[in-house]
Amino acid sequence: MKRGLYILILFLGVFAACDKNDNFVVFSVENDVQLGAQVKAEIEKDPSMTILSPSVYPEVYTFLNHVRDGILNSGEIAYKDEFAWEIQVIDDDSTLNAFATPGGYIYVYTGLIKYLDNADDLAGVMGHEMAHADLRHTVRNLQKTYGVAALLSIALGRDPNALAQIAAQVAGQLAGLKFSREYETEADEHSVEYLAKTEYACNGAAFFFIKLTEAEQGGRPPEFLSTHPNPENRVTNINAKAESLQCVTSLATNTGYEEIKASLKNDR
Ligand SMILES: [Zn+2]
Repeated sequence: MKRGLYILILFLGVFAACDKNDNFVVFSVENDVQLGAQVKAEIEKDPSMTILSPSVYPEVYTFLNHVRDGILNSGEIAYKDEFAWEIQVIDDDSTLNAFATPGGYIYVYTGLIKYLDNADDLAGVMGHEMAHADLRHTVRNLQKTYGVAALLSIALGRDPNALAQIAAQVAGQLAGLKFSREYETEADEHSVEYLAKTEYACNGAAFFFIKLTEAEQGGRPPEFLSTHPNPENRVTNINAKAESLQCVTSLATNTGYEEIKASLKNDR
């Protein structure tokens, strides 16, 4: 066996066995956050993306942070303390979408917030996106695309430019990023597990997909559905998961969602 390969295997065995979710991931948790922060910087440089300022729309961020904190405190998030879990609202009323970067930077479009009917729908999609980050789906995809050796070399800091290049590439694709069916199902089901321990209906993600299907039928194709196909199967699967967990499926009350939607209508 070549010496280099032997050292690589030894390294992987010692340092990169399995992560908290029992997946084999070469990147360290710090690498995920580093990559996410670089993607965030790329998004900030993009003139087509306007982020709502938290100082101008404090109540919107307080609301979204409250939903996020409920999910984080569910006890189901493996990287609750390690990831950033930072929310940014993209000022774009015509887009029905949300996405998350590695390391837990979450992006929600104003178009989606305004379109949804209640906090449970929004909590469902946030749970889904937080699951993609917590289960490290993007980084695991990169590992498949670039191979373990290339990612290991970045993880070891041997190739500082490569991380920046990957960040630029991830930033360009994120809103249109398509995961495998396996990862999507995993994210849907985790959303139910998270929400089961919050004030929101645990099948909020099902309400969300039903609502998006209505938008599609109304001639307004939601971006989220282009990367998240088969909404009908998802609704069935999400509701089956809720049934198996025996969790609460009635809508949360007094969430203040209507007020948040109304407050977004005012230009400031
Ligand atoms: Zn997804």
